[in-house]
Amino acid sequence: MMKIGKPFNELQKEAYFHFIENHKQYTDFNILGLYRSLLENENLPLEEKLEIRDFANRLFQKTFDFLQLKDPLTYMKVVHLGMELTKQEESAFWEIIKKNQEKILKDKKIKHRNFGTYSRHNCGYDHCPYNGLMVRQGSYFKETSICFRSDEKRDEKIKKAKRHSKTKREWKRRSRF
Ligand SMILES: [Zn+2]
Repeated sequence: MMKIGKPFNELQKEAYFHFIENHKQYTDFNILGLYRSLLENENLPLEEKLEIRDFANRLFQKTFDFLQLKDPLTYMKVVHLGMELTKQEESAFWEIIKKNQEKILKDKKIKHRNFGTYSRHNCGYDHCPYNGLMVRQGSYFKETSICFRSDEKRDEKIKKAKRHSKTKREWKRRSRF
């Protein structure tokens, strides 16, 4: 067994391909780290990032799909490498992710209560596109500030929304699909 010994985001394309092809020989090969590095690597032009992503997906498709649950933001960014999404497109994408998350949980027979570090995003803001998304505790999506970035009366609104949101939420769940 060998070690790559340096972070992916310092590698060139040829090295990526080598390590992906021979990943079983490297003890420090991390699939999530590989995908994340495509967002950070400044040595690679976009077209090479896309080639690496597509090549990696041929080997790691299942792990990549699981990222929808494990790290939905990275998944979203890697899928849309080099693309600018409108707010509407992004919201539509999150709706798909939510459904896929349910499917993954169901297929893997993961019960929510056994999935302790994850919970549903619920910032109390009815129209938040992340509502219902399964997210890791402490992740980007748990930061309610992203939903209220420009809202000066934020705390008041959260409190008010929380009082009313439970029944609305139940109703929305039932009518969502
Ligand atoms: Zn929110």
